[in-house]
Amino acid sequence: MEKKRFIFDLDRTLLTCNYQKVETAVFEPFFRDKTELVMKNIAYLLDEYETMYQTYEDKRLSKFLTEKSGLEFTPEIIREWKNAMMSEADTMEEGVIELLDYLKEKNKSLVVLTNWYGKSQKARLRNAKIYDYFEDVFTGEYQLKPHPRAYINAMGKFNPRECVIIGDSISKDYSAPRLHGIEAVLYDKDNIHDDNYVKVKKLTELKKKY
Ligand SMILES: [Mg+2]
Repeated sequence: MEKKRFIFDLDRTLLTCNYQKVETAVFEPFFRDKTELVMKNIAYLLDEYETMYQTYEDKRLSKFLTEKSGLEFTPEIIREWKNAMMSEADTMEEGVIELLDYLKEKNKSLVVLTNWYGKSQKARLRNAKIYDYFEDVFTGEYQLKPHPRAYINAMGKFNPRECVIIGDSISKDYSAPRLHGIEAVLYDKDNIHDDNYVKVKKLTELKKKY
């Protein structure tokens, strides 16, 4: 069936920032010599939060991270974190503009489905000058991947068979949407995943597929 709706993950699929630099700058003033430890665990903790809860919410995230890390993870730190993500320039993944232009030309409906806060994510898309390609940007305050509602929201008026999702996370952008009948393509630029996955190393390979 012809695909009409293209659902893009944001981080490490469209845009990649220097996460290490941003997070170190935010955490260092609060956590001092514990910063390295926080950095080591933060990705796992966010994953755990996203699986456990349906949405991102400052107070709940603050409580969760405080309990899990044993460090005082105040809402203020979360706010600083969001702001820092917005102000640090992103690197655009190779072929993004070429692919988005191609899909637009073919009248495809394009949306973003990302787990982080809308304030940061929308600003990042605007800074990268790709915001206007997308009809909608679905963010973590409303529904987190891999919960079913996230994919249902992102499908909009389209049925699952008309949609395709592109992202770099096996659990959030590949396995979960496939469970709901949405075609998924894994973006695996470093070729770290098994060939059994439907995947591309370059985003522009999608032009041949759709
Ligand atoms: Mg991603």
